[in-house]
Amino acid sequence: MATISTLETPPARQDGFVLPAALIAGMPAHTGSRKGAENASGGAPDATPICNASTGAVIGWQEHAGAALVDEAVRAAHTTLASWRATAPAARGARLKKIAELIDANRARLAALQMQVSGKPPLEADIDVSDAAATFHYYADLCLDAQAFAPEALALPDDTVTGERFYEAVGVAALIVPWNFPMVTTAWKIAPALASGCTVVLKPSELTSPVEHLLAEIINEAGVPAGVVNLVNGGGEVGALLTAHPLVDKISFTGSTASGKKVMQTAAQDMKRVTLELGGKSALIVRADADVERAVTLAVGGAFTNAGQMCSATARILVHDDVYRKFMAAFETAVRAIVVGPPHSTNVAMGPLVCAAQRARVQSLVEQGVQAGASVAFSGSVDQACADGFFMAPVVVAEPPADNLLWTDEVFGPVACVKSFRTDEEAIALANDTRYGLVATVVTADREAARRYQTQLRAGLVWINTPQLIFPQICWGGLGLSGIGRELGMAGLRSYQELRHALAAVG
Ligand code: NDP
Repeated sequence: MATISTLETPPARQDGFVLPAALIAGMPAHTGSRKGAENASGGAPDATPICNASTGAVIGWQEHAGAALVDEAVRAAHTTLASWRATAPAARGARLKKIAELIDANRARLAALQMQVSGKPPLEADIDVSDAAATFHYYADLCLDAQAFAPEALALPDDTVTGERFYEAVGVAALIVPWNFPMVTTAWKIAPALASGCTVVLKPSELTSPVEHLLAEIINEAGVPAGVVNLVNGGGEVGALLTAHPLVDKISFTGSTASGKKVMQTAAQDMKRVTLELGGKSALIVRADADVERAVTLAVGGAFTNAGQMCSATARILVHDDVYRKFMAAFETAVRAIVVGPPHSTNVAMGPLVCAAQRARVQSLVEQGVQAGASVAFSGSVDQACADGFFMAPVVVAEPPADNLLWTDEVFGPVACVKSFRTDEEAIALANDTRYGLVATVVTADREAARRYQTQLRAGLVWINTPQLIFPQICWGGLGLSGIGRELGMAGLRSYQELRHALAAVG
């Protein structure tokens, strides 16, 4: 994959960079017009402006890939598949190890880029880099010890045959990643895909694609052969074109449940394998025996990290009656103290939303929720100096009606709802009263109670008295409308492999 000229110096310092529409088999496949102009045929704009989320300023442009480039990218991945799949796992692992090391070496550039396009506070941007590097390290180590790739002998009830279970790369994987954790979500998909022997076509979000372009540059520098990782920029219909391509064998999509349903319908045409990581409406439960100070810290982190733009946001906070008043008083103090601002402002704790449209969407949901009977208990504030960025103050709603959209729907912004409960049964019923099932947090001093919650909460991952920790060794994914399949861990690797068996006659 060729170096992107605009990224030879940190894009953060450049005005008006242009990201080519695609990076295919080692070459930037397309550069050309920009400025969102109508294309020659009078169709949709052929480039999307990329903004600094903290200032609203246009800092660059990303050209859109169309049908021809999507086809070229998939064919490049298909052509390279046989040789990459046949490459020894240890050799693939060596490339992944190199990528991890280069991510670490480029920590400052990657973090700066995330801060620029997403407005993430420095700590959050740095955690994202660490997470991406850890993911590549984990899958590199799996490849290097080769255990995950060795055929496994089967114990059979018939001594006239022997049996083996083995795994093989699914094929060409289409990876569609969103804007909220661009580098992280991308690492969660690319690392296991490459470890398994799949080749990929990556489609970043048009809002944050500079991060993936820099990552692609790193992957190239790590010596991954041309054509193994290809990239097409989105904007309009690229995702649909990519998922429908007949040479794509596997789709891994992270985004809204609405788009995930479309992806699954498309995949059904050719029985493509799918992993879907979709929405959530998760609960944080504060029991009567909880350390309230810790509960408030976890509530602030669970609802307002990344300005609440997280599928894992625990934005439904359930608090036992006995500690409700104490919790609300401390929560109000904490929320009012959240410093909302650009990445380099003093003590910043929360950045902007990713774009004007997302902020308008979230604000509109709050207005609709209030009109339908929800009341805002308290909110934070945004400094006037932030007026040009996509900032929004954190909002806390108390005791919304059970059918209020702020209680039932994913908001994907800095909005949390609090409700009280009397019994564990009531708390579990309230937490599970959703068709999503991604995560949950329980704050309690009682280990036995925590265990009951762990079993009875309908969620892919339950945190007990911890912040939202995620390690590559665990799996990520949800129940119900939160998606299908698991990312990370061994299951993440297996999701890019077909499970196969062979039986052989003895003698
Ligand atoms: P969507 O998830 O709805 O995303 C759009 C993405 O889906 C783009 O990459 C688009 O690509 C692709 N896409 C759309 N239709 C199809 C299709 N038929 N087949 C394949 N790909 C398709 O998110 P938005 O960014 O529009 O955000 C809307 C809401 O989604 C947010 O407010 C939030 O609630 C949720 N969301 C959830 C995330 C999560 O982590 N679970 C992450 C981001 C958003 P293209 O336009 O290039 O074709």
